[in-house]
Amino acid sequence: MYAIEIAEKVRRGELDPEAALAESLSRIERFDEQVRAFISLNPRAAGEAAAVRERLRNGEDLPLAGVPVAVKDNISTRGLKTTCGSAILRDFVPPYDATVVEKLRQAGAVIVGKTNLDEFAMGSSTEFSHFGPTRNPWDPKRAPGGSSGGSAAAVAAGMTPVALGSDTGGSVRQPAAFTGTLGFKPTYGRISRYGLVAFASSLDQIGTFARSTADLALVSQVLSGHDPRDATSLAEEVPRLQPDAGAARRLRVGVVSETLESGNSPGVGAAVTAFRERLEAAGVEFVEVSLPSLRYALAAYYLVATAEASSNLARYDGVHYGSRAAAAGVRELIEETRERGFGPEVKRRILMGTFSLSSGYYDAYYGRALKVRRLIADEFARAFEEADLLLTPTSPTPAFELGSKVNDPMEMYLSDVDTVAVNLAGLPALSIPAGFEAGLPVGVQLIAPPLQEKRLFDASQLFEELTEGAFLQTAPLE
Ligand code: GLN
Repeated sequence: MYAIEIAEKVRRGELDPEAALAESLSRIERFDEQVRAFISLNPRAAGEAAAVRERLRNGEDLPLAGVPVAVKDNISTRGLKTTCGSAILRDFVPPYDATVVEKLRQAGAVIVGKTNLDEFAMGSSTEFSHFGPTRNPWDPKRAPGGSSGGSAAAVAAGMTPVALGSDTGGSVRQPAAFTGTLGFKPTYGRISRYGLVAFASSLDQIGTFARSTADLALVSQVLSGHDPRDATSLAEEVPRLQPDAGAARRLRVGVVSETLESGNSPGVGAAVTAFRERLEAAGVEFVEVSLPSLRYALAAYYLVATAEASSNLARYDGVHYGSRAAAAGVRELIEETRERGFGPEVKRRILMGTFSLSSGYYDAYYGRALKVRRLIADEFARAFEEADLLLTPTSPTPAFELGSKVNDPMEMYLSDVDTVAVNLAGLPALSIPAGFEAGLPVGVQLIAPPLQEKRLFDASQLFEELTEGAFLQTAPLE
């Protein structure tokens, strides 16, 4: 069932929140041994579902009444382990809820469990999790994408109607494309980062997965808005985000030519063309736009993201958080804790980030990356003078096989070539399932100007209506 249906039925008293939870748990029980979307389940979920009924009886207005939600395991949940997919935090139980979790609970949602991810959200396949990989519900030999692979897989498998992820360079959109789900990253600052474990703070945003545009908009509405506890949170009012397909017909969409020139597998280009043709036939205007600096986005991203990560991850010293190695002195304690606690990709990022920030290399690497970041943001701003939305692939290929890229960081990073620029520029974007290649889902990406997330939902709604939800089915699991 969709989140909207669940919430309506629960509010009308036609469905018990406990029954909605039971449906979700039974899908998890049936399929999660195979998929491994979850790291842990919420042992208090049943009690929380029962409390929703009480709150409705007391007249509370609950837009997500009884909706089961899966939450990526780098988002703090009070009293519930938040591991970040890392050995260093394997037993860490946060003393507080992230703002998004608080908002979900306030809206009547029930947190079902915490989903798998690449360690500290660094990766594109969920294979860099201390807890082992998640499998793509469309093909268990393949990765669900990453780093929010667990959340994407949970929604694709129908375990929950919606899920939260985090998107620093594409970690919501790329797994959404790989699993045939909708994956939304808001404008930087639109949704509070308070309680999201920091990876690269100037890029991180919390985003949402869903199987319908209406569900996506509903959850985004609940999550968006100013939060004084996040210094980068925006003060702007949040408009009504309910999608309106009619409004989309008046939009002009710019196709970003650089993203279609080469390197895409055939189904990817075909999905972009098919998406365009559908919308064009419905009256949407399309133009070609060019962003020449996009080709430097990946390099700039992997400098900025690693630099910030190297600094953010300094807090895991065996003293403040998480696991601690036994050692003779303070220095040894820190070294041992980090040596044992971090996996190979996290270590690689810390090394790269520390290197590019070090004196003598700062100007050549980190400083230049910041300049490229500015160029890219300027080029986006110029492109939005010609178009209301931009269209690109989400990722150059459909889901790849597990094991095929883990030993080749460059290959893995290339999976993000179409998503990272959006984070560098702080823009909102949405991955929409729009085709299949050899039975695997393929996504396209729409990008909007700052704070114009409604346009993304309008266009997605129009496409969903025109295709009658054909690309938004749950994965064919048995
Ligand atoms: N895959 C990208 C990376 O490894 C993006 C990660 C993310 O968005 N959290 O950095």
